[in-house]
Amino acid sequence: MILIGPAGIGKRHFADRFAAALMCTNTGAEGQPCGVCADCVLLSAGTHPDLIHLDPDPESKSNEIKIDAVRELCNRQSLTANRGPRTVLRIAPAEAMNRFAANSLLKTLEEPADSTLLILISENPGGLPSTVISRCQPLTMLPPDAENAERWLSAKLNNPEIETRLLLRLAQDAPLRALVISNDHWLTLRDDCFRRFQAIAMGDQDPLAAASAWQQLDVELLLEWLAGWVSDLLRIGQNGDCAYLNNPDRRTELTILALRLVPLDVHLYLQQVLKAKALSALPINKLLLFESLLVRWARLSAGIDLNGN
Ligand SMILES: [Zn+2]
Repeated sequence: MILIGPAGIGKRHFADRFAAALMCTNTGAEGQPCGVCADCVLLSAGTHPDLIHLDPDPESKSNEIKIDAVRELCNRQSLTANRGPRTVLRIAPAEAMNRFAANSLLKTLEEPADSTLLILISENPGGLPSTVISRCQPLTMLPPDAENAERWLSAKLNNPEIETRLLLRLAQDAPLRALVISNDHWLTLRDDCFRRFQAIAMGDQDPLAAASAWQQLDVELLLEWLAGWVSDLLRIGQNGDCAYLNNPDRRTELTILALRLVPLDVHLYLQQVLKAKALSALPINKLLLFESLLVRWARLSAGIDLNGN
């Protein structure tokens, strides 16, 4: 099967819990794992021999799952399970498999050993060959509803000072992601980057200097922020009182910026940011990427982006 859904909503946890329900020898009335039998203990320690995780090699710069790793996994599944009747193989994120790796999985996906369950996990199924997806049973997972997510996050953070609603919004409603970004470092960094973004528009910050600072940070994260700010500029440009913003805490600043911009230019700029975001997982020249994005942003804000590309 393949679990499809945004990052930070618990797809890996779900897969492991599902595996636990299959392996537990003393499941509850609704099939939930008991948490105390020998299999559950091994699972929670991460040492159960019948649950195998295949993730990108942390040593690999490309962050890919390579063919050798998939082959080894396929060979292991052809052996019988070690402890119980089932082996569960979890591949996450499935789109990290390069083309060769994905192709080498096809035969196993088609004819897995009887005792084997393969669980693929994907945030971006478009990054997977259709031959892989068509051989899986898809299960689409959505973020939990706001009330449940807020309750869960408040309990985890245990700090009434933190605005859980804002965090969830910044995390696109994904609670685990909201938990990751709840630390001061993340929020301070976001503030700092937003101030630069704003200052470039006002002509108070050299876009090349900002690009040089940004290229040292997490590119995917920055492009996500940038896309969020620019999307909000578009929303405000269309309707200053719009109810939904990605960054509700920045409404005032974004409204001032939106007044200086031509909506069509903002729209074209957003396309450029999204294109960059789609490429950000590839090995790219980060400095050049941010230079081109931020110089264009400076020109756009100064009203001199006349070529519209
Ligand atoms: Zn158990």
